[in-house]
Amino acid sequence: MATACAHISAIGKVKQPKRRECQECVKIHSTWVHLRTCQQCGATLCCDSSPNQHASKHAHATGHPVVASAEIGERWLYCYPDDEMAEY
Ligand SMILES: [Zn+2]
Ligand SMILES: [Zn+2]
Ligand SMILES: [Zn+2]
Repeated sequence: MATACAHISAIGKVKQPKRRECQECVKIHSTWVHLRTCQQCGATLCCDSSPNQHASKHAHATGHPVVASAEIGERWLYCYPDDEMAEY
């Protein structure tokens, strides 16, 4: 994968979402716009356009750097600390 980000380069098999819903929004009966799947622990959480921005909060709280889009047909990874994106 052509990227300067070592976090993304280290990803082998990209983790896909177990369920297409934000696991945190479901708990608080909230809604989301798009979904991201954490490549470290497999959590599926909502994007920065969503009111709760759970994926971003998760990355900052846990230090898990890379998420993949969990949207059907989208094949890209994003690293929060390096602000790098790569298609796979
Ligand atoms: Zn990185
Ligand atoms: Zn959420
Ligand atoms: Zn995680």
